[in-house]
Amino acid sequence: MKDNSVTVKGPNCVYCRLKPCSREPQATKPNFCPMTTHPEVVNGSIGKYVGILEDLHRVASLVEKEGYCVWPRLREVVEFSRKLNLKRLGVAFCIGLSDEAEFVVKYLESKGFEVYSVCCKCGGFDKTLLGLNEDQKLKPYTHESICNPILQADLLNYVGTELNVVVGLCVGHDTIFMMNSKAPVTYLIVKDRVTGHNPAAAIYVKNYFRSRLDIT
Ligand code: SF4
Repeated sequence: MKDNSVTVKGPNCVYCRLKPCSREPQATKPNFCPMTTHPEVVNGSIGKYVGILEDLHRVASLVEKEGYCVWPRLREVVEFSRKLNLKRLGVAFCIGLSDEAEFVVKYLESKGFEVYSVCCKCGGFDKTLLGLNEDQKLKPYTHESICNPILQADLLNYVGTELNVVVGLCVGHDTIFMMNSKAPVTYLIVKDRVTGHNPAAAIYVKNYFRSRLDIT
């Protein structure tokens, strides 16, 4: 870990050892601290929490207060939605996590929500329609449906979901989904087949994953 006195091109808070912003914002901060280098950006942020953003932010803090380290993420999604008085939820899921998605949808329904879900392969468009050639398929010269995160978002937009939950979309597909969803998005399952959908595992046991992480 770099020392606070080392020249760092910021913002790059990971190199701040003490992180005084958390409990003692007036204390001495490193020279790359954005609270010092970019005060106009820092101070301008608070005024941006208006409307739905203010509601989301306030309720997120209430869920944290009530359930932090108690509720699993799935329960947090329920309590977050309840506190926002949401009725209609969407689930965008990977076909490889169909069982997990089914559990999630039924659980949310059991808690009183109206739930819609869209699988990543919806539309059934062959991969060649989006520029891949046959040799780039897993099994060339067979039909292979391409994931369609724009369609997942469009359908959930169409039925008017108020919060969309991501269940295992591929990296990049999740990005496209989030860019096209009209409703706010929260993650439930981050897809990582190697770690049982627990990306942090590769960090916690980084020596075991050294070669797979391409760490020399
Ligand atoms: S905001 Fe400043 S004090 Fe807080 S972690 Fe970043 S560099 Fe450190």
